[in-house]
Amino acid sequence: MASRAKAGSEAKPRRAAARPADLRAGVRGTTRVVAILGDPVDHSLSPAMHNAAYAALGLDYVYVPLRAPRAKLRDAIRSLRTLGIVGLNVTVPYKEDVARLVDRQSDTARAIGAVNTVYLAGDEIVGDNTDAEGFARASSENSVKIRGARVLVIGAGGSARAVLYALGRGGAAEVVVANRTRSKAARLVRALAPAFPAGSALVASGLDALGDRSLLATRTLVVNSTPVGLKGGEFLAYEVVATPERCAHFDLAYGKTATPFLREAARAGRPTVDGRHMLVYQGAAAFRLFTGKKAPVAAMFAAVGV
Ligand code: NAP
Repeated sequence: MASRAKAGSEAKPRRAAARPADLRAGVRGTTRVVAILGDPVDHSLSPAMHNAAYAALGLDYVYVPLRAPRAKLRDAIRSLRTLGIVGLNVTVPYKEDVARLVDRQSDTARAIGAVNTVYLAGDEIVGDNTDAEGFARASSENSVKIRGARVLVIGAGGSARAVLYALGRGGAAEVVVANRTRSKAARLVRALAPAFPAGSALVASGLDALGDRSLLATRTLVVNSTPVGLKGGEFLAYEVVATPERCAHFDLAYGKTATPFLREAARAGRPTVDGRHMLVYQGAAAFRLFTGKKAPVAAMFAAVGV
């Protein structure tokens, strides 16, 4: 399950697609600009991923990182109109702020309460959210079933909002959101409850859920949406062995190698999904909004090292 099933199905990448030299040679007066906006942004894999996609399709586009301080965020969003920037991806810590600064939000962005993709439609600056689609598609491509799933979501930050939306729309049967700050889990559950079908159970909890063996024994999917362990060290105290053997473990956080959460799950023989799968599929959905074309996902996977 850790490897993608059908990632190469959309378009075949050209071998040398992501070489920086190709990109430098390709930037000219007609080149259209897309960017990732955040603070910080220098760690982001999105420029490499999107530039590889443009190269694979021979598109006259370039994707650059842009760092903006919070006080200048409104100006940064307006720059789409003033500079003719095609679109932006938005990352930590601005996804919620940007939702308030666009001219119009998509229904999905409004329901999630965060924007990760901004683009111009005529003269209008539109905010959308492709994280939920990225999560849903990464799940289905890795044979993780959402319909009827009994899920534990660890964390209640911005990305958990999109995960909950995808779980609700996908028909998950029961979701427990466990967070260090329990009141934030409760707020998230209240905000995303409308995305869930009648009859599904949505519960907020503290991190004690990670050691609750009877709860864990009934899970079909555990999602980590915290960055814990990314900078070295261990994951949280979590009884992975109490989950059923087929319980999938999906980490939103990602690095160059498996995260501590995924390492623990893999050691226990549980199926795993690496966060770079979601990164690629949310990027593929944004690529479609920016270019009007189907994304070459195989080139994007290669660019992020999967
Ligand atoms: P966020 O809004 O800052 O939320 C972070 C969450 O982690 C909060 O629930 C926070 O708990 C919890 N947390 C942080 N440190 C903790 C600790 N030491 N112990 C216990 N809980 C802790 O961040 P986010 O936007 O949701 O992003 C979370 C991760 O997902 C990041 O690594 C991000 O890069 C990744 N991500 C990946 C994708 C993808 O496409 N793969 C997309 C979006 C995000 P409190 O509420 O108690 O502070």
